[in-house]
Amino acid sequence: MGELLVDDVGEFGLIRRIMHDFIFRPDMIVVGPGDDGAVYRTPEGYDQVISTDTMVEGIHFTKDTMGPFDVGYHLGASNFSDMAAMGAEAVGFVLSIALPGSLPLSWVESFYDGLRACCREFRVNLLGGDVTGSPKGLILTGTVTGMVPKGKAVTRSGAQKGDIVFVTGTAGDSAAGLYALLQGMGDKWPSLVERHRRPKPQISLGILLREAGAHGLNDISDGLSREWNEIASSSGVEMEIDAEKVPLSSDVKALAEKVSVDPLAWALNGGEDYQLTGTISPSDFDTIKEETSITPVGRVVKKPGKGVYLYHHGRKELLEARGFDHFEK
Ligand code: ADP
Ligand code: MG
Repeated sequence: MGELLVDDVGEFGLIRRIMHDFIFRPDMIVVGPGDDGAVYRTPEGYDQVISTDTMVEGIHFTKDTMGPFDVGYHLGASNFSDMAAMGAEAVGFVLSIALPGSLPLSWVESFYDGLRACCREFRVNLLGGDVTGSPKGLILTGTVTGMVPKGKAVTRSGAQKGDIVFVTGTAGDSAAGLYALLQGMGDKWPSLVERHRRPKPQISLGILLREAGAHGLNDISDGLSREWNEIASSSGVEMEIDAEKVPLSSDVKALAEKVSVDPLAWALNGGEDYQLTGTISPSDFDTIKEETSITPVGRVVKKPGKGVYLYHHGRKELLEARGFDHFEK
């Protein structure tokens, strides 16, 4: 007998095989997965946060650049990252998957193993989902719920004049990892490839930044140029960024040098780093400046104001949002 396909086990057979070890916060469960709906309980004193994020085969991944475990992990990470960007904890997850019946069952099982690993790492309950067929390619939609102390969610619109603009970790690693994979040299750049396939949502840094008083916060899903422009336009501010300060990993610099690419382009326009960027007052920044994974890169210079300016090689230039846009021509 050949490999088992989704078609061979059917919808219910599939669900039976993947529905195990879903719960990592048992205290929040009233009715677990398996019924028409899951019932969960959030503690007193918290607001609830919700967000959704989709991965489409051929747009967000291909079977050449990511294995099923990676896709599952990545789907969790990209969703949980939106909770980090609100200063929230991710606590619950549901997903809707559309699959071709010709997909091997092992692909789906491994996809769930990756998602489960991400849920375990960040303590998120997998509460249920839906399965349908797809005429062509996979479509994977996740919805995450989170919780944040009442009234404390960190939005994009709160940036203030005089604030420091910061970036967590390093930026551009995911784009560089994808570049290496597409050029057939992924095996030479394992840490960049890992950053592309299994990015880490920055939940603890999001909480730390909220507690420190961050004003504007975004996760880096579409590249820094787009994230900064989103904060600037939502907050009605003008920002100035020092290109030399944008944190780049030594691997990003090394690969860029090897292939004669400007590593800054990966950081500004690449996306999928799932680090955080935002603004905070200089005095509040002082309380977290020992945190070596948070780098100041610029300032909010005007409010009301408009736009993001980049100082680069001694010149000041308008930085437009150049990250990924699905419908851009
Ligand atoms: P219904 O017909 O009530 O929509 P389903 O047959 O679609 O129920 O799902 C049965 C149970 O299995 C539900 O609890 C649902 O949340 C869960 N489930 C269905 N699809 C998935 C999936 N892709 N991942 C996780 N759980 C799923
Ligand atoms: Mg259903």
